[in-house]
Amino acid sequence: MTMTGIWKTVFVSGGAGYIASHCIVELLEAGYDVIAIDNFSNSVSGITGESVALQRVEKITGKSVKFYICDLTDREKLAEIFSKHKIDCVIHFAAIKAVGESMEVPLHYYRNNIIGAINLLEVMKAAKCFQLVFSSSCTIYGEPEYLPITENHPIGKITNVYGRTKYFIEEMLKDITRAEKNWNIISLRYFNPVGAHPSGLIGEDPTKPYTNLMPFIAQVALGYKPELLIFGGDYPTKDGTGIRDYIHIMDLAAGHVAALTALQKSHLRLKAYNLGTGMGVSVLELVKAFEKATDTKVPYIICGRREGDIMSMYANADLAKKELGWSAKLSLEEMCQDFWRWQTMNPKGYRTATNDNTNQELIKKSDD
Ligand code: UDP
Repeated sequence: MTMTGIWKTVFVSGGAGYIASHCIVELLEAGYDVIAIDNFSNSVSGITGESVALQRVEKITGKSVKFYICDLTDREKLAEIFSKHKIDCVIHFAAIKAVGESMEVPLHYYRNNIIGAINLLEVMKAAKCFQLVFSSSCTIYGEPEYLPITENHPIGKITNVYGRTKYFIEEMLKDITRAEKNWNIISLRYFNPVGAHPSGLIGEDPTKPYTNLMPFIAQVALGYKPELLIFGGDYPTKDGTGIRDYIHIMDLAAGHVAALTALQKSHLRLKAYNLGTGMGVSVLELVKAFEKATDTKVPYIICGRREGDIMSMYANADLAKKELGWSAKLSLEEMCQDFWRWQTMNPKGYRTATNDNTNQELIKKSDD
């Protein structure tokens, strides 16, 4: 893959996280230099404050990443980092994202996600960097009025605080791009990212308890959990279970490189794109696909619906295909196999024992 534009340096917030670490692989392979920050609120740090995920990214790509520990609510530190580098574009991933937790501690979510975004935008403006790719989410559509969902579907009827923070930031981006013509922003509305890099070296390893479906399925397949609880078997769907658009994390990562190319080609002010496959897959279908692709057994129990859950959500991703030249290519089978490779090579995520000293240190640290 070659870099198509003139930009060189990309600043990535939340760089040690699941989605960002996979995107950084794609960015480095496309020829960009990457400066990443993270506060380790939901990712693993090594003994001297390095990101274990980003060390693995360096191993995969043979390239280095400049990394700083920084919380976006610390504006001074953020400004200091911006003053040290000439940054061409920002990809803003950093956010806390547990739906249930967001309902319990809303102020924490508003403070972290909203103030973090405001600080980043202000620091960008002061540094005269107006190019941004924002991590948004299909959750901002709320309960779909029609399917597959297009970008002009109404947004804002959201059932949880996490989703509202994403919605409010999109509204903020609308206002600033309307008021100030320098801004050039793409908001990427992710559907359900799953899977891992095919090397098995990086993957999803939240430090908070698992809540998403695929990591839970893998934990059951490994025998760490006795069974999967399926939230609702009585929805009016093909088999009674909820439907989502699962997208391979490497396809999602490629979508970010495509967005950077588009921003370099034209001044868009603000544009939103769905990143999904367009395929609706039920919980039961995902369980069956996982069992088949990995030759494992995933016992499950169907229980009551999860509060605030949407029944069915999948993307119309035609706009991204037309305007970004991007579409999802990897199959459900590859999503399962790649996630399983990561999970079995690293049964305890980045804290798994290897001959690597960093990880030995980590194990010591987490056992303390
Ligand atoms: N789900 C489930 N059991 C779980 C976790 C999730 O049945 O332990 C279902 C959930 O109700 C939804 C789908 O799996 O229909 C995807 O849920 P996830 O939390 O991964 O993503 P989101 O709800 O944010 O789309």
